[in-house]
Formats: sequence, structure tokens, C-alpha cells
Amino acid sequence: MKRAVVIGGGIAGIQASLDLADRGFEVHLVEKSPSIGGHMAQLDKTFPTNDCSMCILSPKMIMCADHANIKLHTYSEVEGVSGDFPKFKVTIKEKARYVDVTKCTGCGDCIAKCPVKVPWEFEEGLAQRKAIYLPFPQAVPRKVTIDGDHCRMILSKKCGVCKKVCQAGAIDYDQKDKLVDVEASAIIVATGFELMDTSVMSQYCLGVCKDVVTSLQLERILSASGPTGGHLARPSDHQEPKKLAFIQCVGSRDSHTHGYCSSVCCMYATKESILAREHAPGLEATIFYMDMRATGKGFQEFVSRARQNYGVRYIRSRPAKVQSPDGGSGVLVNYETRGLSGESVTEEFDMLVLCPALIPSKGAKDLSKALRVDLDEDGFIDTPDLARPVDTPRKGILACGFISGPIDIPDSVSQASAAAARAAELIEGGGK
Ligand SMILES: Cc1cc2nc3c(=O)[nH]c(=O)nc-3n(C[C@H](O)[C@H](O)[C@H](O)COP(=O)(O)OP(=O)(O)OC[C@H]3O[C@@H](n4cnc5c(N)ncnc54)[C@H](O)[C@@H]3O)c2cc1C
Repeated sequence: MKRAVVIGGGIAGIQASLDLADRGFEVHLVEKSPSIGGHMAQLDKTFPTNDCSMCILSPKMIMCADHANIKLHTYSEVEGVSGDFPKFKVTIKEKARYVDVTKCTGCGDCIAKCPVKVPWEFEEGLAQRKAIYLPFPQAVPRKVTIDGDHCRMILSKKCGVCKKVCQAGAIDYDQKDKLVDVEASAIIVATGFELMDTSVMSQYCLGVCKDVVTSLQLERILSASGPTGGHLARPSDHQEPKKLAFIQCVGSRDSHTHGYCSSVCCMYATKESILAREHAPGLEATIFYMDMRATGKGFQEFVSRARQNYGVRYIRSRPAKVQSPDGGSGVLVNYETRGLSGESVTEEFDMLVLCPALIPSKGAKDLSKALRVDLDEDGFIDTPDLARPVDTPRKGILACGFISGPIDIPDSVSQASAAAARAAELIEGGGK
């Protein structure tokens, strides 16, 4: 059976699907949100070349949707898995969108008229979306979804505006979740990561100090399609910051939270510092770090360029406390200077960016139970055989991208191609 299920539609799942589909396999790509794309869709540019993230990702998303061998199951999750290699049965729950996707043209008339506003996940809460929405402008598929937790019509039968304005007749408030069974010979898990909720670490003041944001929020602020139209503005008063600081390893490499290194933060903080300086000439960026992990091709040169050409200040220190001056704009960062003289210094910045631990995506535990594969001690899918780095111990179940451990985009793509090749090898070679 030349059929595989890929779970997770970020860059890793997309690449694995395309590779398998190009080899003639039928692929069912299951993505829990209404669009494929994952975190790469939220990034402005990518290190170390600072290429536009969407310019690389978007063509791949479209190729996935248009590929004759790929069936997209967006807004869907795996409900159960039975059987063994080479014949798994995967039950997929396609959640009700309350929209007939065969009729929706993605015109947006319904969005314009919807009266309900809620925080927008894609914009990391920095903007609002409507209860009927497209997750982001380049979403694939370009079909709207009604958020049943906030739609007045779904909750209390009081509204119906979107149905009135939809000329395609696509709105269907009675739509129900649907279960679909797919038989497949291999399953590739590519469900990625999420940011640790660092508001629980009160010393960093996230959620209390207005000008403390996360690194992913800064990606959206820097993005031309983001909530500030690409203008670098701090949340408290929408002014352009002149002094910007980053704190690395917030929750990672910390025995109280997550002991492991999240792997991409040294480089993306360097990237975001360079981009911020390009947006705001004269801006002074400071990165508080534990030690610099610039291990990839061209990474050390990237850091040197940030220092020399963009004046990025790297301070080796783990700040102890962050406060807001009188609850207003800006932040006060307390840290200890390096060396024997180690003094305690409090420095004022206009805005502070936290680089939180990147942890396995929500639901990894349930998914691992359904697939009967183990998680490692940090909660990532265990791929213990170093000679077969994308294999789980269960034959026919493979993992790639961030869900198998912290990893950047180029390495996620290589791993995804490896997982696709391994799936093809297993299926065509009868399990060898
Ligand atoms: C602030 C920031 C900046 C970064 N900048 C860079 C950079 O410049 N360059 C670089 O190389 N890397 C960068 N990275 C790292 C990069 O984002 C990751 O390497 C990459 O996104 C990993 O891709 P992935 O497909 O494995 O995971 P993800 O991008 O997380 O995609 C996983 C997908 O799976 C879906 N999913 C999750 N659970 C389920 C489930 N149970 N069922 C179905 N679907 C599910 C998710 O909705 C998502 O679409 C950055 C990371 C951060 C946080």
C-alpha cells in the first residue's frame, strides 16, 4: 500500500509530504489548525541569510495543496490509530468549520461584517481577528473558518450576519465534526513545538510590564504583514524603541523548568537584533546570553556581522529581575556584570524581548499514546537509534522536525526528507 499519513503541517510535515508525493505515494497530511504553514509562516525573515520566510514557505504550501497525490485534512486531528506496519488504520477527526469549503471563495465579505472580535493567535495576541476568519492572508487552503467558541450564532443562535452576506452560500451552522478512516503503511509525526508560557516566571514581568514581549511577538511586529505594518513599535505607547534588550534561555537550560537548550534562540535573537536595527537606524540592541551557540554553517559569521556592522552588544549574564518603571513604559533590567568584580547593575531599556523555552507541541503526550511510541525525558518523540535518526522503535512510525528535538528550519527540512525516504524504503522494501 503506497500510502502514508503525515501529522503536522509545518515546514517539516510539508516537506515530508511533498517528497513522498513526488515519489508516487498517496499522502494524507493532517494539520490541527485551519491552515498549513506552522511557525515558519509567522517568521519575518530566517537566519543566517535573512531571506523572507514566507517567500520560501508559501510556494511549498501551494504545491502541497495542488499536488494530485496529497490530500489535506486541515482543522483536523488524529483521533486514534490501530494496526501495525504495514497496515495502520488512522482515524482523523475533521472538525466542523461551519463553512462548506467546496463553496467558500475566501473573498472575506463575511469577515468584514462579523461583529465579534477575539485575540488573534497568528499575531500572538497583538491584534484581533473576527469569529469568522482566515488564519493569515496567505493561508492554505484559503477558506474561512467559524470559531465555534466565540461565534454568537453557534453559541446562542443570535446573529447570522455571515450567512446573509455570503454570496457563495458557504455558511453551514449545522455542520458537525466528521471522522475519516485512512489505511496507511507509514506515519510521519511532525507536530513541532510551542513557546513555554513564561508569564509564570514572574521575575521576567511578562504580562505585567507592557513593554516585555516574546520573541515570536517581535517576529510579528517586524513583519510587514504584522500588527504594526512592519513598524518597530513598543506596545505601551507605540513609540519606536531606541534601546532594545533580549534575554536568552528564559525557561531553557534551567533545572527548575526545562534543562535542555532550545537550540535556535542564540541565532534568532541575533537575527531579530539585526532586523530591528534595520527598521530603526540608530537603535541599540543588547543580548543577555549564557553562552553563544552558533554551531551551523555561516552562524558564527552572522554573529560577528551583528557585532561589527550593527553594533549588537552581547552581555554574558542572566538577568535576575525585570520591572517596569512606575508601571509605565520601558523596563528596568537588573543583572550582574561578568568577572571577579561582578557588580549588580540596573539598566533601563525601552523594550525587552524574552526568548522562551521551546517545548513539544500541546497534545504530544496523547498523540504518543495513540501511536504507542515513547517520549524522551524532555517530552519530544523518542528516536533512540542514532544510526536511524528518524525511526521510532515502532516500525513504520517516523518523526521529523522540532517534535523530535529542538532544530532549525534547514535541519527540519533535511530530517523531513530523510523521514520521507525512510518511509518509502520501508514500504517498498517490505519493512527492511
Ligand atoms: C521566534 C522564533 C524565530 C525563529 N527563527 C528561525 C529562523 O530565522 N531560522 C530557522 O531556521 N529557524 C527559526 N526558528 C525555528 C523554526 O521555527 C523551527 O525550526 C520550525 O518551525 C520547525 O518546523 P516544524 O514543522 O518541525 O514545526 P512547527 O513549525 O511547529 O509546525 C508544526 C505543525 O504541526 C501542527 N500540529 C501540532 N500538533 C498537532 C497535532 N496533534 N495534530 C496535527 N497537527 C499538529 C501545528 O499546528 C503546526 O502547523 C525560530 C523559532 C522561533 C520561536
